[in-house]
Amino acid sequence: MKKFPRKTHIEEIPKKWYNIKADMDRLPDPPLNPATGKPIRPEDLSAIFPVSLIEQEVTTEREIEIPAPVYRVYEMWRPTPLVYAANLREKLGLKAHIFYKYEGTSPPGSHKPNTAVAQAYYNKLEGIKRLTTETGAGQWGSALAFAGSIFDLDVKVYMVKISYLQKPGRRILIQSYGARIVPSPSEETEPGRKILEQDPESPGSLGIAISEAVFEAANSSDTNYSLGSVLDHVLLHQTVIGLEAREQFQKLGIYPDILIGCVGGGSNFAGFTFPFIGDKLRKEKKDLRVVAVEPKACPTLTEGRYDYDFGDTAKLTPLLKMFTLGYDFVPPPIHAGGLRYHGMAPLVSLLHREGVIEARAYHQTEVFKAAVEFARAEGILPAPESAHAVKAAIDIAREVDDEVVIAFNLSGHGYFDLSAYDAYLKGELRDV
Ligand SMILES: *Cc1c(COP(=O)(O)O)cnc(C)c1O
Repeated sequence: MKKFPRKTHIEEIPKKWYNIKADMDRLPDPPLNPATGKPIRPEDLSAIFPVSLIEQEVTTEREIEIPAPVYRVYEMWRPTPLVYAANLREKLGLKAHIFYKYEGTSPPGSHKPNTAVAQAYYNKLEGIKRLTTETGAGQWGSALAFAGSIFDLDVKVYMVKISYLQKPGRRILIQSYGARIVPSPSEETEPGRKILEQDPESPGSLGIAISEAVFEAANSSDTNYSLGSVLDHVLLHQTVIGLEAREQFQKLGIYPDILIGCVGGGSNFAGFTFPFIGDKLRKEKKDLRVVAVEPKACPTLTEGRYDYDFGDTAKLTPLLKMFTLGYDFVPPPIHAGGLRYHGMAPLVSLLHREGVIEARAYHQTEVFKAAVEFARAEGILPAPESAHAVKAAIDIAREVDDEVVIAFNLSGHGYFDLSAYDAYLKGELRDV
């Protein structure tokens, strides 16, 4: 039997991000301007994004240098550990070897600061004073609030109302970092007021919160908007995860057989898997299996349609070619708030369309069961989002029933999600 150390060390963080577009035969169809229906021009985006990020959105360069100030912030918690789940294997009697890349060691506790820090930096560089954004469960809001505090930017977060009420922990963290937070839909923007008129009890959704944040940024000159997932530049920044993991595996002399990540908008999945998928696209590796995992309550890849759609409820964002459940889809209030998004990153969508990656969906009770099994073996209580990857890793290990190497991205910890675990442990959690 193969033997692996628990923790795999490398000294250095990758110096460059990886752009998968350099290795794709076909690129996603271009984003369309919602007003004209024509492909969007870079200047259409400059009201809400800095030029450097718009450039990163369209470039097909394979490697993009991580700026030194961003690198120095990464050094606070990167490289993140790649851990061999020895106890899990033993406890569950698995033949497969499972590794997890643990992104929960960042200050806000998830992968999201990998892009939040980069986005705050580029906005600061271009003279922007304030950033607006949306947040679901609060992970993205806390990541951007953290990044804003590092680069001295004001941050305003529209938080999906149901999560604002259910998850005070993340709200308090966001406020502690010095950002302002508003439950969405709110009275502070036109799109928010419109929704409240139709439905004063609206639990909110990421689509609505995005509308509010984009609206405010578009109507203020010193304010930009920042998105935590979906867009190409966000996925690009997250590739630091997969690049590190690949180096860590290299130190062990192995190349993983199966990679797994949970998908909300697709950024942690993409960040973890794209450097490996690039190897496959360049025909350097053949047999890699890559699996995206989503909730049955918001089954974008497994049940959505592949089409142009808006990223938000008020139809303010460009139309993206992606798997979507419809821009007006309001997902049921499951506990994996970060996976409650109607769309999917165009790059992840196209790779799924072309059969390069697979997708599967799970109900939340089976996901929490796997999360607790993982915690009892490895000690870390996973974020409910990440727990989808845990569940798939365990299931696939059983299905394959062979000494393959499975690696999943543990995108964050669940220590702000204790009320969800409480509900599960009391038997009160329901599938929707
Ligand atoms: C936000 C979040 C996700 C989902 O977003 P992606 O863009 O799909 O990665 C997954 N896991 C955690 C811990 C998150 O915070």
